Amino acid sequence: MSLLNIKIKGYLATIFLVSIFISINYLLTAEISIPNWVIIFALVGSLALLNYFTIYIPPRDNIISMDSAIYLASLYLFGMELTLYVLITISLIFFFYQQKISWYNQIFNFSIYIIMINVAYELFLFSGGTIGQINTDNLFPYIISLASYFIVNIFLVILYFILEGSNTIENILRRISSDKTFLASYFTTMLLAIILGILLDYEKFFGLFLFVCIAMLLSFAFDEHYKLYQATLEKANKDYLTGLNNHGYFKELLEKQIANVHENQSTLNVALLDIDDFKKYNDLYGHIQGDSLLTFFGQLLEQEAKASKYIVARYGGEEFTILLPNTSSSEAFLFINDLRKKVNDTYFTGVEALPYGCLSFSAGIVEYESGVYNSSELLQKADKAMYHSKAQGKNIVHVYSECLEANPQSPAIAERDLEDAEQQLKIFLAKDIYTYRHSKRVFQYAMDLSNYLDLSEGEKKTLVLGALIHDIGKLEIPRDILNKKEKLEQSEWEMIKKHVTFGKEIIGSNKKFDALLPLVELHHERYDGKGYPRGLRGQNIPKLARILCIIDSFDAMTTERPYQKTKSFREGILELRRCAGEQFDPVFVEPFIKMIEKNYAEKFIKNEPLSNG
Ligand code: GH3
Ligand code: MG
Ligand code: MG
Repeated sequence: MSLLNIKIKGYLATIFLVSIFISINYLLTAEISIPNWVIIFALVGSLALLNYFTIYIPPRDNIISMDSAIYLASLYLFGMELTLYVLITISLIFFFYQQKISWYNQIFNFSIYIIMINVAYELFLFSGGTIGQINTDNLFPYIISLASYFIVNIFLVILYFILEGSNTIENILRRISSDKTFLASYFTTMLLAIILGILLDYEKFFGLFLFVCIAMLLSFAFDEHYKLYQATLEKANKDYLTGLNNHGYFKELLEKQIANVHENQSTLNVALLDIDDFKKYNDLYGHIQGDSLLTFFGQLLEQEAKASKYIVARYGGEEFTILLPNTSSSEAFLFINDLRKKVNDTYFTGVEALPYGCLSFSAGIVEYESGVYNSSELLQKADKAMYHSKAQGKNIVHVYSECLEANPQSPAIAERDLEDAEQQLKIFLAKDIYTYRHSKRVFQYAMDLSNYLDLSEGEKKTLVLGALIHDIGKLEIPRDILNKKEKLEQSEWEMIKKHVTFGKEIIGSNKKFDALLPLVELHHERYDGKGYPRGLRGQNIPKLARILCIIDSFDAMTTERPYQKTKSFREGILELRRCAGEQFDPVFVEPFIKMIEKNYAEKFIKNEPLSNG
């Protein structure tokens, strides 16, 4: 309960004043005899004891309130003054000894009890009830007073929620009427009040003692029952290996979060994470260690998500999901991307053998929008974004956007050709993961761009395959030069430049790659003739090599490199325009920019480089 709201403060103050007024009104004239003081302390003692022996009823944690039973029994037997003394004494004790409950909650509880008891008492007398023995002549007044006790309680609580603005009347009423255990526990309390009244009336302290004993035993039995219920619930909702929420429960939570978005006009993002190359880890170290890695990874996610109250689940296998309520998609991206970096930096036995030399995942994020048909459609979109991250070389996070939908105009490339080219590229996985990922991204850009240009099917295919394999010559460059973090020496730079010639030699040995030769050899030629290896100028450079040069340069600019500042997509575009006519063929610069702006729109919100390598 928060006191932020001025209306709530006013409400609490009002009911507190009313309850003080009621108390003073009765207590000024009250005269309590010594035997009655003994009764008061016996009742207070019972209340204090039963406070530790609560009876919880699953599934909604309803409580059979012994407090109410004791107050009402006392009310019918001894009247208002004595009951008030009991209530005030126990409230003071709780106020000083129950630190767990906030002071304003204690005051709220105290005040509504006073008001409830007072209304129940007045209506009991009004409907003809007589204080003293419990007897059937009072049946009608009992019903009236118990019902009013219940109604006042509900009314005061509803009023509180309305002022808090978190719930509507219909919502609360619906909950009360649909929750059978709520009503059952309330009626039980009412009946217990009468039963305790009879026991107290006939056997005084022994009657009270019996009642408290039964309540304690019941509490014990219900407690066991409740623990069992909680444990079963826990098991049904948790993943046995990682201890995270399991697939089924995740779906349930997702539905709840979606309903929440509708109710509160809030936002929701869902992230799907898939560990990279986990099969390889399993193959290297066995399934048992694979399981340990999954557990470790799950705990890491949970730990990172806890502070922001994000919800983590194991979706299945090595796939995990994170629900990010009240988060915009750019915040979600930043969180998951930071998480990715953290995971990269966290060591676990054996991860050095994975392609990135560390633990990594690829992720897709999707924001819930009211147009989304259901949770499955949402997850499908997250999945698409995740696969896009995989396709771009893994260890990347992508936010879903419409343009990830399968493009019907993708160039038709024979599976076989693509596989052959991929096969060549896979050698980079062990030697130079950065070139591998760069090639994958350039390939994706080429696929996207081919739909924006007036190219024949054959040209499209050549561009796309050439893009995938264009840096193949880097296989011949020594590792220490490729991975060097400092600025390159002139001689080392000359060596790097040779990759275009090496590439030509490597793929030249396979006739089927002949069409790709110009792309591999000439993608570093410049429009103004200042490129390498031949220094060709303008139209003398083959068209596809001119196009590839733009794509290749854009990716190089917008990803982290050892000795140059990374450009954002926006800055990358400015740079392309600045160099159009010098480094780049101006004819193809604008279509490329158009494609980037449309297909990678999310990059412009975040101003974030595409990935870290
Ligand atoms: P990618 O980077 O493309 O995601 O490659 P990957 O190897 O991670 O993905 P792939 O889908 O090829 O393989 C997933 C592997 O995860 C295969 C399966 O044996 C393993 N796996 C799934 N569930 C468990 C599990 O509970 N324990 C263990 N040890 N392995 C699991
Ligand atoms: Mg997988
Ligand atoms: Mg995987």
